[in-house]
Amino acid sequence: MTDMEKGVFQEALDTWGAEPQALCLLEEMAELQDALCKYKRGRRTVEDIAEEIADVGIMLDQMKLHFHIEEKVEAQRAYKVERIKERLQK
Ligand SMILES: [Mg+2]
Repeated sequence: MTDMEKGVFQEALDTWGAEPQALCLLEEMAELQDALCKYKRGRRTVEDIAEEIADVGIMLDQMKLHFHIEEKVEAQRAYKVERIKERLQK
């Protein structure tokens, strides 16, 4: 996330609190789940999916900030991408 985004997200956490923002993440994940399910039935578009992925990403970034785990998440991500790569090579 950019420094500007970090500032905005930190202000959101300071204004609304981490717990309500965590609930918001759950809500956004449910909306993404709903969009993906409905897309399969022709009731949602890829634009709807893009919007919900953006929403979830924004809330995940806020959780990374709240828990001070940006670097840990990056390390986990790198490890897991490597693991996928290895599995694909077998
Ligand atoms: Mg949403």
